[in-house]
Amino acid sequence: MKVRLLQFTPEADKTVAMAARLCYSASTTTALEESLDEAEVARLVRMLRRLGHLSPFEHASFTIAIEGLSRTASHQLVRSRIASYSQQSQRYIDQLGFDYVIPPSVESEAKLKARFLAHMDVSRDLYESLRDAGVPKEDARFVLPQAVASNLVMSKNARAWLEWLELRTCTRSQWEIRELANRTLSLLQSASPYLFENAGPPCVTQHVCREGHLSCGRIDTIRSENACE
Ligand SMILES: Cc1cc2nc3c(=O)[nH]c(=O)nc-3n(C[C@H](O)[C@H](O)[C@H](O)COP(=O)(O)OP(=O)(O)OC[C@H]3O[C@@H](n4cnc5c(N)ncnc54)[C@H](O)[C@@H]3O)c2cc1C
Repeated sequence: MKVRLLQFTPEADKTVAMAARLCYSASTTTALEESLDEAEVARLVRMLRRLGHLSPFEHASFTIAIEGLSRTASHQLVRSRIASYSQQSQRYIDQLGFDYVIPPSVESEAKLKARFLAHMDVSRDLYESLRDAGVPKEDARFVLPQAVASNLVMSKNARAWLEWLELRTCTRSQWEIRELANRTLSLLQSASPYLFENAGPPCVTQHVCREGHLSCGRIDTIRSENACE
């Protein structure tokens, strides 16, 4: 999988800080912009996160490009509605030479992997036969596996990214979308250090776990480590 940060709001931290400050100031936006140095931006953004006043975070937008994500993971991805997506279409793009993602649990077992690869070949052959028989792409794709790799462009505002990162960096999320979330988190943090400071799973960022009996148990380790400090 490849993940790239395609575009983002310039000076995103400052834009959010300025929007927040404007709510409580009689000043003009120009005067506010000039008065905000980096320390004040950091202070304001951290305060908004701490108080949960996150609507100013919606002024900053970040767009990522994803290559080689399975259709399994992309289906999980597009369940998040507060986002914009563009995904390569299997209705319009021929899938004859489709790429696919092999789960680590299959990759590590030689016999299983051989059967998995054989199944990909069978799917490809059947797809090709249907296409040769004149079946349109939009119908031939019904025989494609969920492992088929896909490319997408995805945009969210900073508030929506924070919520998504909480869900998808959690170990309860599946390995592939979790890898996407962890890589996205690094990209967002390098573009906008204050907005995404201390972002990630709630066990790490807030020392709470909302997964109940499905919890992975990591929260117990984190709590005991912090109790010792
Ligand atoms: C570990 C894990 C396991 C999952 N398992 C399943 C599963 O088995 N089956 C399944 O179907 N899904 C499953 N999901 C998907 C999950 O239920 C959500 O659909 C997905 O994570 C998107 O979350 P969201 O609705 O909070 O995000 P978004 O759609 O981006 O929404 C963000 C927030 O906006 C608000 N919002 C958005 N739309 C509405 C609305 N219509 N009404 C009111 N408020 C709204 C809510 O506050 C919401 O939290 C799973 C997700 C995870 C992380």
